[in-house]
Amino acid sequence: MEKKSVIKFSHCEKDIFCFFVPEKCPECGVSFSSGRLEEAPIRIPNPFSNGHKTPCCFLVAPAEENNLREFDGGSDLHTGITDTNGVVFNYTKPGVRQDQRGWEMCISIPLIQPDMFNLLNQWDQYLNKFSDAEMWDPAYKRFDKETHNCYNYTLMFLNRVLAAQGKGSLTKDQFTQSFVLPKIKRACKYTTMCREISQNYFYIVDSPVNTS
Ligand SMILES: [Zn+2]
Repeated sequence: MEKKSVIKFSHCEKDIFCFFVPEKCPECGVSFSSGRLEEAPIRIPNPFSNGHKTPCCFLVAPAEENNLREFDGGSDLHTGITDTNGVVFNYTKPGVRQDQRGWEMCISIPLIQPDMFNLLNQWDQYLNKFSDAEMWDPAYKRFDKETHNCYNYTLMFLNRVLAAQGKGSLTKDQFTQSFVLPKIKRACKYTTMCREISQNYFYIVDSPVNTS
């Protein structure tokens, strides 16, 4: 995956994405040396983050791009929850794992606001207690690709957190549609863009129509 950041500039009614601003517009060939770029290029935020540096988050680790695109809350992707130190708790066939590495490139969805001190203080305790429960013990209940997988584990934890805040729970569909899929779509778009730029130096699309 690309570490370089993508920048965007606009010229001749196109949005041009690239890693470096070229000397000439790839579309019309006009030279930028004389300051013909009307607006400064903007940096496109990278949708991926290091999961170990995002505490108290819901993590989605993309396996392959196809999986990303087709993700529907099933078992194609791996999901986890970080504790306050960036250790990733995730449910697998042998039970709940605590990963100190391996989630360096994933999608992080924050689960609590930084000012929720009470919850923050109890987070690790909650997560440990939840993970120790019998239902995640393979001797008690077996992993199931559809109904008892990493996504069920993370979603159930999220709902415990919501309940602790006096909030209603989210169904798998609600959470997937409102929180996970938009991030995954953005990540897919970014990945496609990076691949295109790596191959052709530029990714060029029509600028959105200016209605003013
Ligand atoms: Zn141009």
